[in-house]
Amino acid sequence: MFDWLVVGAGFAGSVIAERLASQLDAKVLVIDRRPHIGGNAYDRLDDAGILIHQYGPHIFHTNSDAVFDYLSQFTRWRPYEHRVLAEVDGQRVPIPINRTTINRLYGLSLSTDAEAEAFFAARAEPIEKIKTSEDVVVASVGRELYEKFFRGYTRKQWGVDPSDLDKSVTARVPTRTNTDDRYFSDTHQAMPADGYTRMFERMLDHPNITVRTGIDFDQIRDIVTYQRLIFTGPIDEYFRYVYGRLPYRSLSFKHVTLDTEWHQSVAVVNYPQTQDYTRVTEYKHLTGQSNSRTSLTYEYPTADGDPYYPIPREENQAIFRKYQALARSHPDVHFIGRLATYRYYNMDQVVGQALATFKRIREEHAEHRTGRRLPDPHLQAEEVVQP
Ligand code: FAD
Ligand code: UDP
Repeated sequence: MFDWLVVGAGFAGSVIAERLASQLDAKVLVIDRRPHIGGNAYDRLDDAGILIHQYGPHIFHTNSDAVFDYLSQFTRWRPYEHRVLAEVDGQRVPIPINRTTINRLYGLSLSTDAEAEAFFAARAEPIEKIKTSEDVVVASVGRELYEKFFRGYTRKQWGVDPSDLDKSVTARVPTRTNTDDRYFSDTHQAMPADGYTRMFERMLDHPNITVRTGIDFDQIRDIVTYQRLIFTGPIDEYFRYVYGRLPYRSLSFKHVTLDTEWHQSVAVVNYPQTQDYTRVTEYKHLTGQSNSRTSLTYEYPTADGDPYYPIPREENQAIFRKYQALARSHPDVHFIGRLATYRYYNMDQVVGQALATFKRIREEHAEHRTGRRLPDPHLQAEEVVQP
């Protein structure tokens, strides 16, 4: 008999399980249909002894002290600032586009922010209402740079043209007039020193928590006794697709090890113009590991396969809203995480969402004990970390 069943042992499920067990002394069963914990952030040693990310590169970054402090209970950190090169017109240049990018690409020697600003301004197209992922880029750097860096990559990654995707997708990548070549500019940028999986093990290592991997919710939903449920899988699957399937983008990962010490000069190289894969990751840059060999992952986007990315488009949000309304009529189930709330969230945002959900559960719990009523505590997990 458990107080809570948590479906999914990724960030959403593990954070909430840890909070319920350690703060409310609740008995929690955590299940995952994969053979491991950690969800998409799962990492493991490969045959060469190199720590790789099974589901593609996961770089931790956040502006939230609360999220960083929370996770710091379960890991030490290795300071790491992510840098990415894009292979464009046969050269490898920094992405996000910055002053160095345009100097290299156009053989210029712009030396101030103002000069770079003027370069972009001369090319940027005025767009009255920025709606799509094409609009965002064209309005800031113009069509030529959009086509070189964004159009091909986005079509490959999402299977649709950027003009059919919400602006929030390419807006994740800024444009810079300085020479800052870091991929992120958050206040906290670091990798868990012993890897993500080790961090999850510590989070779930509590006498009140039972973890069972290799088990699908469907196998046990009518067998295990529990009072309340946290579901972190796809919300459309939970409701047996009553309103049809929510589209998710999938990836196929090709992991390889080479008999050479290094393959590329940075952790990730993007391929916006050539290749069937979007990017190549070399893990030793992320982890600081020493090894005479090196391990890489190639990411090939696919329509079918495990759901990795919700696809931000209005028509998909419309389907999601129907599921969300249905969820409100199931007050004993909380839906959290990237798949259950159909949001293109980074890890820190999912942690923030799980912590916010826990706060509401704790308030409900207090209400139960004191008999005091609190306003609508269910499913309003909007207190998340902004990107
Ligand atoms: P998940 O990690 O997907 O966990 C959900 C778990 O639920 C899964 O393990 C699944 O097996 C399980 N599950 C689902 N349905 C069932 C069921 N019916 N029964 C049992 N188990 C079930 N974020 C960053 O911050 N930085 C990055 O660099 C970054 N890179 C990324 C790269 C890639 C290729 C991808 C795909 C994502 C990346 N992310 C990154 C996003 C990050 O992976 C997510 O924000 C985070 O892992 C989401 O956690 P979650 O718990 O919501 O979902
Ligand atoms: N993008 C692009 N070219 C790039 C990098 C990113 O077109 O070189 C676009 C693409 O649509 C991508 C989105 O910006 O899906 C967000 O990029 P990010 O690196 O944040 O993607 P993620 O790491 O989440 O896959």
